[in-house]
Amino acid sequence: VGEEDLDLTPPLRSFVPSRTESKWSDTNAYAAKKKLQSWFQLPNGNWELGTILSTSGTESVISLLEGKVLKVNSESLLAANPDILDGVDDLMQLSYLNEPSVLYNLHYRYNRDVIYTKAGPVLVAINPFKKVPLYGNNYIEAYKRKSTESPHVYAITDTAIREMIRDEVNQSIIISGESGAGKTETAKIAMQYLAALGGGSGIENEILKTNPILEAFGNAKTSRNDNSSRFGKLIEIHFSETGKISGAKIQTFLLEKSRVVQCADGERSYHIFYQLCAGAPHDLRENLNLGSADDYKYLRQTNCHSISGVDAAEQFRIVKEALDIVHVSKEDQESVFAMLAAVLWLGNVSFTVIDNENHVEPMVDEGLTTVAKLIGCTVADLKLALSTRKMRVGNDSIVQKLTLSQAIDTRDALAKSIYSCLFDWLVEQINKSLAVGKRRTGRSISILDIYGFESFDRNSFEQFCINYANERLQQHFNRHLFKLEQEEYIQDGIDWAKVEFDDNQDCLNLFEKKPLGLLSLLDEESTFPNGTDLTFANKLKQHLNSNSYFRGERGKAFSVCHYAGEVLYDTTGFLEKNRDLLHLDSIQLLSSCTCHLPQIFASYLLSQSEKPVVGALHKSGGADSQKLSVATKFKAQLFQLMHRLESTTPHFIRCIKPNNIQSPGMYEQGLVLQQLRCCGVLEVVRISRSGFPTRMSHQKFARRYGFLLLDNVASQDPLSVSVAILHQFNILPEMYQVGYTKLFFRTGQIGVLEDTRNRTL
Ligand code: ADP
Ligand code: MG
Repeated sequence: VGEEDLDLTPPLRSFVPSRTESKWSDTNAYAAKKKLQSWFQLPNGNWELGTILSTSGTESVISLLEGKVLKVNSESLLAANPDILDGVDDLMQLSYLNEPSVLYNLHYRYNRDVIYTKAGPVLVAINPFKKVPLYGNNYIEAYKRKSTESPHVYAITDTAIREMIRDEVNQSIIISGESGAGKTETAKIAMQYLAALGGGSGIENEILKTNPILEAFGNAKTSRNDNSSRFGKLIEIHFSETGKISGAKIQTFLLEKSRVVQCADGERSYHIFYQLCAGAPHDLRENLNLGSADDYKYLRQTNCHSISGVDAAEQFRIVKEALDIVHVSKEDQESVFAMLAAVLWLGNVSFTVIDNENHVEPMVDEGLTTVAKLIGCTVADLKLALSTRKMRVGNDSIVQKLTLSQAIDTRDALAKSIYSCLFDWLVEQINKSLAVGKRRTGRSISILDIYGFESFDRNSFEQFCINYANERLQQHFNRHLFKLEQEEYIQDGIDWAKVEFDDNQDCLNLFEKKPLGLLSLLDEESTFPNGTDLTFANKLKQHLNSNSYFRGERGKAFSVCHYAGEVLYDTTGFLEKNRDLLHLDSIQLLSSCTCHLPQIFASYLLSQSEKPVVGALHKSGGADSQKLSVATKFKAQLFQLMHRLESTTPHFIRCIKPNNIQSPGMYEQGLVLQQLRCCGVLEVVRISRSGFPTRMSHQKFARRYGFLLLDNVASQDPLSVSVAILHQFNILPEMYQVGYTKLFFRTGQIGVLEDTRNRTL
């Protein structure tokens, strides 16, 4: 580093945001003059560091790392930060806040296994895809004692605990990111810290043990993540007056139940099935007539049975132990396993044609008889439920025989329902065990681990719901970090040039508007007897084409312009998934079984009689009971979630996936950048930095620092005292703003005053 390079006075001193920063001219002319380093974008999109040799007009000559010298358009260069800023803890500290600089800073840290970085108030976590030495008791101790300031999930969690106690306000830790980015691991790391600090009652261990259970039943191997959560989760952890954990409550969202009967190549069904097949002890195996995973069609349909590095039998033991700990009785556990086996055997039920109209009947074989035995009904009843459908015609009810595809749909619908009810029931049991009890103080920290924005080659109903949820969460994020911030400045009358941010209310309106929004139109079409995916798609095009966030596409497809990018949805299966019908015959079967099912199904059956939203559901027959559509239920859950989150102080963690192959040490610039853009990390830093993040009321400021004044001003009002202090300490005018009620400071300014105060005290 030459001497000249260290002469950085202008850019460094102006930690003041340069509003002109994005303009090339100022910073680059300076960089060129000083032969400073600049970012140059290679044809593959990656950025490379180079030194500007000369600039004339709109052209610059730059030398790249390997001695290559190029003549480039000056506009294409972006200023690089001086070496002394390499790997700063907080992106806010960067002199030049452009995309390559942010990418470089994160990469610099990542190479040194420092996976956490602050972006103003947000914690960025980059998945290491390997064990990193950042966790455990020593680290927990260090963050608890505040002997380290390095950004960490522990630090965020610690802040949440402190603010919960100090402000008596509930807190939330909102974790987002793409599939495989590390959300679930991050949530567990936060829980670990909470358990360590708030432990003592023993309930913390129960809370931690809910993780292996929910992961076994709700996670699966996908092409993106060997342990992908197929549901969203909010865990609300309650604290007593003394700061000890007193209980918890888990809420889950939208389990992907189609995976039970079908999944893509290279993916798997839910872990628990493989664990059961691999790990069930002899007696259980006998009782359930259990074979190996290969024996079951539902598991056999993909070529992938084991996950490298995972011992399914050992996992099964861990899950059973965890079930013991959360007080699921042995008897209930047996029933759970029986239901799992029933689902597996149900998949093996096959059909034979019985007449010349292609009607079918299930074959009476090991599959059928085992299912009947496991769920506790007669083979005859099961046969009937899988091959016929009762329909009402006027006042009469007639029995219709099913064709092969209808029978398979009926069988699969039954399997999916059994599984999803089992999942809900399990969550209910866990919640009973963790119940907060009467001595609730109302103090809690919630951790939200919810599927991030998804955009695949083919996007279906699941992505539609997931991305809708992400729009809502994004709005929460925007509101909190941008709107509230700006509103506070404006309210206090300070000079504040607005920082632009993308508000996604218009996109949310596209989803939520009644009667002409995506969700309403979906529900409407779902209630029409003759509605199909195609009529649905056409209806969208007819009503929404003028909306700039919507675009009708060829065939049954449409696109939505999400905050994180445009997504093309294929409506195939939308109506069926939204209706989520279980035929009356299946419902009757399930309620009459002599197994645990009626109990497991109790809440499902109850929900069947909820308010009619999707009215008469199906062509004559179908489920006669009136039932909320999946999208409507999801929307209601989401509103309730947002409502709950709004009453908390949020802490945001953005997880980033550095490569698509789950490999350690690999950092793909383009992929990281796209995720940073999606979640608005740069804008957050920009607003925090160009803003005045430190605030203090005039009264408090005067009280805190007034005694440092050389002139006695005791008789003066707090505002005058404050101004006198600012003058005495030569705080530069651009470093603060005087509001009606408060003083606002740039980052770091209050530190100077604190130092002096501490020295004087
Ligand atoms: P998501 O929930 O966002 O889909 P996960 O939390 O399941 O992603 O993480 C995917 C995988 O990445 C994990 O199974 C683990 O192997 C790895 N991983 C994530 N975070 C960490 C971490 N902090 N340390 C080590 N490995 C991690
Ligand atoms: Mg997950």
